[in-house]
Amino acid sequence: MRYEGNIFRPPSEAYSLIVQVTIGCTHNKCTFCSMFKDKEFRVRNVQEVLEDLDMARKYYRHVEKIFLADGDALCLSTHKLLTILEHIKKVFPECKRVGAYGTPQDVLIKSPEELIQLRKRGLGIIYIGAESGSQKVLESVNKGVTREQIIEAVKKIEAVGIKASVTFISGLAGPENMEEHALETASMISQMEPSYVGLLTLMVEPAAPIYKEIQEGRFKILSAEEVLGETALMLKNINVTKNCVFRSNHASNYVSLKGDLPQDKERMMNQLKRAMENTNLIKDERFRAL
Ligand code: SF4
Repeated sequence: MRYEGNIFRPPSEAYSLIVQVTIGCTHNKCTFCSMFKDKEFRVRNVQEVLEDLDMARKYYRHVEKIFLADGDALCLSTHKLLTILEHIKKVFPECKRVGAYGTPQDVLIKSPEELIQLRKRGLGIIYIGAESGSQKVLESVNKGVTREQIIEAVKKIEAVGIKASVTFISGLAGPENMEEHALETASMISQMEPSYVGLLTLMVEPAAPIYKEIQEGRFKILSAEEVLGETALMLKNINVTKNCVFRSNHASNYVSLKGDLPQDKERMMNQLKRAMENTNLIKDERFRAL
């Protein structure tokens, strides 16, 4: 396989075949993100992608899932995506699901009919990094998208039968705006009802622009206890009517939470409460990772 630079994928794609269809991220300006700061965005030649798939077929006997990288593979035209998906169907007939990161803008520019075509050719899940439900926080981290666009995009994905997996980041608002971050994130999740929600906890690498803000004292990292309090407030205020798989079990999280909303809400909130009362249950900083 031919890969360019560091490769990132959602935790649930750990066992997937990863194929780069774009290099980098179209936006690349989020202040907390260092993933693609060393890459200049470009779309890979589709022929090269098809060759990569043919190459991979020679090495892997059974491929259940394929993840299209990098940052927002969904920015590709529907025509290009369909060409890639059709080739996947031909070369990997056993593949059950293809996934990709997408920005809300990538989703909104496509018609429902285009998304349905993509679903029929195997696109089963789109990962959206929402990070916060608060417009104020989205602006402060230079997310480049509005709260309303995120909600509209996720509803559109779910309406055509593709699963939406939406990621948020605890601690992203610092101590001053943590309450707004928690409440607005809860209200966003309740409004858009995605199939999956993933909650990470902010960890910053030197290449991320927010690192400088932290060094200069303009942004404060939350303590572990504050993160748990923020998560508890968010969970308490999520009200979904259809099943939402909630995961906060990433290496960056202080407490590992796994459950389905709405039914596991109380259990997860009790788990947080226990960790707040007994700090031995909180993951040591040394064991956290991105
Ligand atoms: S968080 Fe996502 S959209 Fe923002 S710069 Fe990183 S990869 Fe791009």
